[in-house]
Amino acid sequence: MKEEIQRLKDLQEVDLEIGKIEKEMAAGNEMLSSRKDSIEKHKTDIAEYEAKLEEGETRRRELEAEVEDAQLMIKDRQNKLMKVQTNREYQSILKEIDDAKNDNRQRDDELVRLLEQAEYLQKKKDNQVALCEEEETQYNEDSAKLEKEAAALKTKMAKLLKTRATKEKKVKAALLRKYEQIREKRDGVAMVGVNRGVCHGCFMNVPPQLYNELLREDKLHACPTCNRLLYNLPDSEEEPAA
Ligand SMILES: [Zn+2]
Repeated sequence: MKEEIQRLKDLQEVDLEIGKIEKEMAAGNEMLSSRKDSIEKHKTDIAEYEAKLEEGETRRRELEAEVEDAQLMIKDRQNKLMKVQTNREYQSILKEIDDAKNDNRQRDDELVRLLEQAEYLQKKKDNQVALCEEEETQYNEDSAKLEKEAAALKTKMAKLLKTRATKEKKVKAALLRKYEQIREKRDGVAMVGVNRGVCHGCFMNVPPQLYNELLREDKLHACPTCNRLLYNLPDSEEEPAA
């Protein structure tokens, strides 16, 4: 049994290393993907500002055409004024001119507001464009760097998987099944050391009786709290906490 325990320990050791590499790869990908999300968000914002700018520009052209039309109309009415016969007609044309001038004043006000708004939107847009470019440059740098790292990690991983296959073969089938089941349920850790009566999987005390049996190494025991398989971990072998 002592040998069986050692084989499981060896297998767990490789599995922990594999897990570490998997985490490292996932972290890199996650970082890149969150960068990408941020870039996409900038692009959405930029598109929104562009749409608003376009909308403002359309409205500006519309208003300018209206102003021009109104000016022509005013000129036309002013000419008519010279030829009118009655006072009533005269008053009516005057009012028309007055109204048209009023409308144009309002249009001018709106044009000023549109100009201010366009300046504001342009500033916002420029800001987003700058941020976006900065992040894209960073993304490309990180992506190239990660690609290199990933290649190295993959090589490392391939070696580890080979080692794992060898070590796995040495473990009895029933034991291996049990190990895999626990590993799946317990975050990749199925085999843990017990040091000074404390399980290093859940950091709870194991009962003294169990601890004594564990020291004999003639049977495989499981932690009553976390269910992981246990081995004795003397002080001398204790690893510093990760
Ligand atoms: Zn435990």
